[in-house]
Amino acid sequence: MTARMRLQPEAIGMGMTSQRVRDRLIERLREQGIRDERVLNAIRTVPRHLFVDEALAARAYEDNALPIGHGQTISQPWVVARMTEALFEDGAQPKKVLEVGTGSGYQAAILAALGLEVHTVERIGDLLRTARKRFRNLGLNVRSKHDDGRIGWPENGPFDAIVVTAAAPALVDALTEQLAPGGTLVAPVGGSGGQSLVKLRKDADGAIERIELASVVFVPLLSGMVD
Ligand code: SAH
Repeated sequence: MTARMRLQPEAIGMGMTSQRVRDRLIERLREQGIRDERVLNAIRTVPRHLFVDEALAARAYEDNALPIGHGQTISQPWVVARMTEALFEDGAQPKKVLEVGTGSGYQAAILAALGLEVHTVERIGDLLRTARKRFRNLGLNVRSKHDDGRIGWPENGPFDAIVVTAAAPALVDALTEQLAPGGTLVAPVGGSGGQSLVKLRKDADGAIERIELASVVFVPLLSGMVD
């Protein structure tokens, strides 16, 4: 190995993932309309480069989705920011949150950094094992389960907030049912070409209000489990 090659990982660690590069992402998110300072701060703090393959670490603070293997992606930072921000709108103060689609673990880590009690479900065992290692290494307290997340996590519900990070043609009833009164659910709804990011609010009486936040592109919500 040449000296130049040996220097590369260090250059990545000190350059492309530096605080300055992360601050630039935060500025970009602000420009794109993200306002919640707690959410921006969580994104500034959680090291996104540790949630992707080392070979992609240099691109971790660009506002893009990146591949994480098994045909899946870590969501674009703006999408993570917008979904997370939505949970705190209208004076909501969620404590317990369910995420469907752990993937890299990044969205769960952001929620944990915000002090939420995080439950996350992933259908691909290999991705979940890697995400669990990241939670452990970063000292993040996240409860996770290898399962088909379309059934939610009824034993631990109801949840003040539910974040679905894979797309389905319609909202999943089992998940809406596990949303506590006053709770917020965010999910991409639509086909494989692109979806609408839907925010659903359940009021104290159980009545449901639904609004559309943005156009997004997510990988599909699939049934069953794989190792
Ligand atoms: N929140 C993730 C995004 C991962 S992409 C992150 O921050 O990295 C969506 C993830 O949803 C994929 O890992 C995919 O395997 C998972 N997924 C798809 N259908 C699912 C289902 N029915 N139950 C649980 N996870 C599912």
